[in-house]
Amino acid sequence: RKKIGVMTSGGDAPGMNPAVRAVVRAAIYHDCDVFAVYEGYEGLVKGGDLLRQMDWNDVRSYLSLGGTAIGTARCAEFREREGRLSAAANMIRNGIDALIVCGGDGSLTGADLFRSDWPSLVQELVDNKTFSPQEVAPYKHLTIVGLVGSIDNDMACTDSTIGAYSSLERITEMVDYIDATATSHSRAFVVEVMGRHCGWLGLMSGLSTGADYIFIPERPPKAGEWHQELKNICSRHKAKGKRRTIVIVAEGAIDDQLNAISADQVKDVLVELGLDTRITTLGHVQRGGTAVASDRLLATLQGVDAVKAVLENTPDTPLPMIGVLENKIVRQPLMEAVRLTKSVATAIESKDFDKAMQLRDSTFAE
Ligand code: ADP
Repeated sequence: RKKIGVMTSGGDAPGMNPAVRAVVRAAIYHDCDVFAVYEGYEGLVKGGDLLRQMDWNDVRSYLSLGGTAIGTARCAEFREREGRLSAAANMIRNGIDALIVCGGDGSLTGADLFRSDWPSLVQELVDNKTFSPQEVAPYKHLTIVGLVGSIDNDMACTDSTIGAYSSLERITEMVDYIDATATSHSRAFVVEVMGRHCGWLGLMSGLSTGADYIFIPERPPKAGEWHQELKNICSRHKAKGKRRTIVIVAEGAIDDQLNAISADQVKDVLVELGLDTRITTLGHVQRGGTAVASDRLLATLQGVDAVKAVLENTPDTPLPMIGVLENKIVRQPLMEAVRLTKSVATAIESKDFDKAMQLRDSTFAE
């Protein structure tokens, strides 16, 4: 009987609970035992009651539950071989030989490393007499499947990550609230949104709310010129009778010389224009709350496919990441997706912004 562990790791995202629910129930449906690994990689490293077998009813009501009920954490120990050795021992102790990890590119990179380390970790556990060769015999190969849980929608080779549309919905709703008060008082608001190095939330929320100007890292404005451009655009809109001004600033906003652009700087420019300007940093409300229907569906379909991918996995299959392309659930080679994702950051660092945009658009691994 296959024993599958499921965990959520890295930043939380709405839809992680529906993903865990789908994995637990699909695993049971396919006659597997399934364990929840609590607190991300910490659960593997520490073991004990952080590894708990899950029953069908344990995930009841997970569909409408925000955050992640099995917890998530950033685990420094797992970055070290010692930590991964302890994780391997805890897995073997519980008979777990497959893992489904729902997290961002960091968590999934860690998963890949764990998988490639696995044979040598198992050997070390025999050499240091933690287990006998007979005990480890069934654990020659570790199966891992990745699900991408991230509000930032920052992973290549998939159209959307679990949580991104929920976060976008929340931001859009919040900006609508701001819009009402801004219009009443003829005020300007600078709204800072999350996204780390990815401008997806900034761009999409700006389009969804009809923002006057959007700052995202992939399309930075020209240093020394954007102040005037921002003023020109906002005054043009004012002249057309628009009472409110909304400017969206992505967390990673920069100019084309890679200088960070902060909400405060943008506010100062709008004040120079004579606008009564406020800053709203949306912060963690963007992660909170329940998942929108499309994220629940995505998480459910992908969770079910993750279990199938575990059952179909062979030692030669590159670690699969479950994605979605053109509304179809697809399996992509994880490390290719991570490599492409990182190449966007590299393109931005080398000021090749056209390439950054092109890479963000590219869906299939090269
Ligand atoms: P995210 O998964 O959201 O990108 P992080 O980058 O913080 O978040 O990664 C989450 C956890 O995954 C880390 O705390 C660490 O335990 C593990 N991890 C990340 N990168 C690596 C790595 N290169 N090697 C081993 N473990 C890693």
